[in-house]
Amino acid sequence: MNIILYAVPFFFLLIGLELLLEKIRQTNYYRVNDAINSLSAGVLSRMLDIVKTLVPLTIYVFIYENFALFTLSDSPLVWVSIFVLYDFCYYWNHRLGHEVSLLWAAHVVHHSSEEYNLTTALRQSSSSFFSWIFYLPLAILGVDPILLISVGSLNLVYQFWVHTRHVPKLGWFEWVFVSPSNHRVHHAQNKVYIDRNYGGVFILWDRLFGTFQEELDTDPVIFGIRSSLKSWNPLYANVQVYSQLWQDSWHTKGIWNKIRVWLGRTGWRPDDVAQAFPIVKTDLNQFEKFDITLPTLNKAYCLVQHGVTTYIALLLLLNIHLLAGYQQLGLVIWVMFASYSVGCMLERKDFAPRLEWLKHLSLICGVMLFGLPLWIMSSVIILVLFSVVLLVWLQSSKHNADNSLPSQVQGL
Ligand SMILES: [Zn+2]
Ligand SMILES: [Zn+2]
Repeated sequence: MNIILYAVPFFFLLIGLELLLEKIRQTNYYRVNDAINSLSAGVLSRMLDIVKTLVPLTIYVFIYENFALFTLSDSPLVWVSIFVLYDFCYYWNHRLGHEVSLLWAAHVVHHSSEEYNLTTALRQSSSSFFSWIFYLPLAILGVDPILLISVGSLNLVYQFWVHTRHVPKLGWFEWVFVSPSNHRVHHAQNKVYIDRNYGGVFILWDRLFGTFQEELDTDPVIFGIRSSLKSWNPLYANVQVYSQLWQDSWHTKGIWNKIRVWLGRTGWRPDDVAQAFPIVKTDLNQFEKFDITLPTLNKAYCLVQHGVTTYIALLLLLNIHLLAGYQQLGLVIWVMFASYSVGCMLERKDFAPRLEWLKHLSLICGVMLFGLPLWIMSSVIILVLFSVVLLVWLQSSKHNADNSLPSQVQGL
C-alpha cells in the first residue's frame, strides 16, 4: 500500500486548517505562486518515483535476499527498532545531502521556497538519485523491503506537520523529536542556522553528532537558500544546482578540480571559475523575497490549472495497473509539461498562454488516442473545456489586467 498517496487527503485537510489560521491570525505565510510551485514539485516527485525507485529497489532486494545477516522476527519491538534505525540512516542521508555538492543539487529543491508552510513539506526533489544507498545497511541487517518502504513512508509523513510557523516551541518534545521550531531552523539561510537540524523524526541525532541549533528569538528565521532560485518553474528548481556544477566542472582546469566540484563540500568552487563566474549571494540585511505580481484572475487560473495537473497525476498513480507503459510515460511527460507551463504563467512569460493552448490540446488528443476508460475521458474533457473557457476569459481581460499593474516583476 502506498502510505504517502493515501495520506494526501490528510495533507490537504491540514493545509486547509493552516489557511484558516492564516485568515484568523492575519498572518502572511502563504503566496499562491510559491504554494503552486511547492505542490507542483511534490506532484512531479511522486510521478518520477515510479521510474526512479525501480533500480534501487532491485538492488536492495538483491542484497536482502543474498547478504542479510539476520532473520528478523515480526514483532512490534522489531518494527520500532527498525523505525529508529531508519531515521538514523535518514540523518546521514540528509546531512550529506547538505554537505556534498552532488547530493545538495538534488535536495536543494526542498529548501528553495522562501516561505515556510505545509506546502513546503511537499516540495520534494525529483532528481535525487543516490539517497537509497544510505539505507542499504538495513538490507544487510535483514529488513524486509516491504517493511523498509512502510517505515520510510511513515518517516516522510511525520515530517509533513513540522513545516508550519503556527506551532511554537514544544518544551520537552524539542529534546527528542523533530518539531516545527527546530525544523524552521533547518530551512533558514541565516548564518547561525546553516547546516543544522538534519533529523527526520528524532532530533536526538543532531544533539548526539553536534549539529543541533535551537531557534533563537534574537535571529528570526529567513527562509530559503543563499543562491535564490528566482523562478516559479519546478523543473528548473530540480536542475538549477546541477547546471551550475556542470558549468563549473566544464570551465575549471585540472581533473581533480573537475571531480571536486561534484564531490566536494557544498559551496566549494575552484578559484578559477569563482573569479571568472562569480555567484552573487543574497544580502540578508536587505533580503527581499522573489515575487512576480499577478492579477487575481491569473492567480485563479493558475490554481485551477494546478488542480487539473494534480488530478491527471492522481489518475495515473491510482490507476497505474490499468495503464500500459507508453500510456504511463505519456502522462508523466504531460504532467512535466503542464507544471512547466503553469510556472511560465506564474512568471508572466509572453509565450505562456500559447503553451497553455498547446497543453489543453495535447491533453485532449492524448486521452482520445490512449483509449482510456470512458469515465476518465469524460472527466478530462470536462476539465479541459472548463480550462479553455477560463483561458479565453483571461486573454480577453488581459489588457485591463496588465494596465492595472504598476510593475509585474520584482526581485529579478
Ligand atoms: Zn534539508
Ligand atoms: Zn523540511
